Amino acid sequence: MPTYHIISLGCAKNTVDAHSMAALLESAHYTPTDQADRADVVIVNTCGFIAPAREESYQVLRDLAAAKKPGQLLIAAGCLTQRYGQEVARRVPGVDGIIGTRRWMDILDLIRRLRQSPHPEPLYHLPDTPTVGRDERGVLRVAVQGGSAYLKIADGCRRPCAFCAIPLIKGTLVSRPTEAILHEARALRDAGVQEIILIAQDTTDYGHDLGLKDGLAQLLERLVRAVPDVPWIRVLYAYPGYVTDRLIEVMATHRQIVPYLDMPLQHAHPATLRRMRRPANIDWVYRTLEKMRAAIPNLALRTTFIVGYPGETEAEFQTLLDFIQDIQFDRVGAFRFSYEEGTASAALGDPIPPEVKQARWERLMATQQPISLARNQALVGQTLDVLIEGVDETHNLSVGRSYRDAPEIDGLVLVEGRLPIGRLVPVRITGAMVYDLVGVPAAGAAHGEPAPPRPRKRRKRRRA
Ligand code: SF4
Repeated sequence: MPTYHIISLGCAKNTVDAHSMAALLESAHYTPTDQADRADVVIVNTCGFIAPAREESYQVLRDLAAAKKPGQLLIAAGCLTQRYGQEVARRVPGVDGIIGTRRWMDILDLIRRLRQSPHPEPLYHLPDTPTVGRDERGVLRVAVQGGSAYLKIADGCRRPCAFCAIPLIKGTLVSRPTEAILHEARALRDAGVQEIILIAQDTTDYGHDLGLKDGLAQLLERLVRAVPDVPWIRVLYAYPGYVTDRLIEVMATHRQIVPYLDMPLQHAHPATLRRMRRPANIDWVYRTLEKMRAAIPNLALRTTFIVGYPGETEAEFQTLLDFIQDIQFDRVGAFRFSYEEGTASAALGDPIPPEVKQARWERLMATQQPISLARNQALVGQTLDVLIEGVDETHNLSVGRSYRDAPEIDGLVLVEGRLPIGRLVPVRITGAMVYDLVGVPAAGAAHGEPAPPRPRKRRKRRRA
């Protein structure tokens, strides 16, 4: 039986594409291997979001190309290749095939063509056709990791954010058909998944191209009816201005939808936001977050900011720090601005020196850390359900997440003892750190032999 090995870099949306390619390979009787040197086909699902992500993708490809064994195929897939396919071929001799993120579903066709005849030059497969729901070759658009799964509801983005290359890579928003998403949610429920995480470049835009109004709220309502026994449904990547009253009401009404909002705001000064071509109405943000906190008890708020955007003055940056103090987010992520050619902000250049970006990034994190710590400390003594994801045998600890933590971007809960992986367990919180919590199983918590940990594909999470 032929074997394959996939490395997925970048965000969870890329991971879903990698799992979908893996499903297609397995339908063609390929078997997975964790060791690249044992694989007949090695695929790197690259990230092209910002320069450091691109460099990491090049490095991984170079390492694999250097270690290639005779007859092995090395294929570069994903966002980097979609935009920079020729450059990938030039910079990484040894790559056999180049396939873009919009046509991941053609992976078997590409392998067949590569096997058919010698190819002194790499074969390119970069048609511009977007990824669409009806063209997914029947594979699930999900990535399951232990008890939780990402489910992709749309791909592409139609927002005009000046710093972002994603629309150049992915194209405009294409929503997946609601029925396909519900079908996948049922399959995940049948597989015992405890948490379904809805992802897209902008989840709040779901259904716009299908003619739906408040499409995400409608989808969530159908989802809770379709899988009433999946305890956690989480939504990532909401766009400011599109968290509607209806969406808030749906989130507040259904216990299954975890009280967690991830809304990347990018900045808080209206002038910076206008230069970013982002919604600049900060009053709306204040009003909406207040409304949400009133409607949804114990809401956990996460956001992301960019520091060092072209033209960001010290006063603009200070406004951002003040805003962080005002809102008291549970979680904050921050990026230093990365210049991206071809984006609308490219015309502004990259005038802020790296050391200023770094200093602002550090000040931002130093502003948020005591807030995160205080919000974590407020949970000491409470009991939270924790989804167990791993066991550290040496320290007799289990590691999991509460509803306040999305995988890989938020914190962890470290729990005394060995608990079953993939299960939700009540945990009494006994200690708090800036990012993580510590606890002990509460009365009634299930103990027992944990399932063996699932191997994880290499992945570094970034935001887009
Ligand atoms: S930052 Fe997000 S919302 Fe804005 S264009 Fe990029 S993917 Fe779309």
